[in-house]
Amino acid sequence: MAKKAYEKAIKTRYTGKPLKLYDEKKAWVVRWPRALEHHHTYGLLTPFFKGLTQGRLMATRCVNPKCPQQSTWLPPRADCPDCYERMKWVRVPAKGKIYTYTLVDYAGVGIEMKTPYWQIDVEIKGVDTIFKGFLAEGKPYIGMPVKAVFRTKNPTHTILDVWWTPDE
Ligand SMILES: [Zn+2]
Repeated sequence: MAKKAYEKAIKTRYTGKPLKLYDEKKAWVVRWPRALEHHHTYGLLTPFFKGLTQGRLMATRCVNPKCPQQSTWLPPRADCPDCYERMKWVRVPAKGKIYTYTLVDYAGVGIEMKTPYWQIDVEIKGVDTIFKGFLAEGKPYIGMPVKAVFRTKNPTHTILDVWWTPDE
C-alpha cells in the first residue's frame, strides 16, 4: 500500500529570492515587495452587475404572497429581508428623482473617482428603497429628474458602471 504524503520523509528547500538590504546600519531594512490579488464573487447578486453592462437597472422583488412587505429592493437583496424567501429579478426604470444629495470632498479608500463630486440618492418609481449614486454633471436639487447612464463599453464590473445625469 502506497504511503500517504504526510507519512513520507520530505526534503524541503528554499524557493524564494533573497531579499535586498537597503539600510545596513544597526537595524537591517529589507525590500520585500508583495502583491495581493483579490477574488470577489458577486454570488446571487451577479444579475445586478451584469445588468449594468447591458444598460439595465435590475432590482429584486419579493413575490411571496405571505410576506408582510413584498418590497422591491435596489441595491438588490438575494433574499427578502422581511420574510427571508428568495427574491425575483425585475427590471426597473433607469430614471428617477433626487431624494437627497451631498458633496463628497474626501472619498473613501478605493473610490476611483475625482473629487469633489455630487453623491445623490435617487427615488425610482416602483422601487421601495433609495438607490445611491453620483451626478456626473450639473448641480443637484431635491426632486430633480435624473436618468441613469451605463458604462456598457469597457465596463469596470463595479457599481461605477452606472451614474446619473439631469433629465430635464
Ligand atoms: Zn418578503
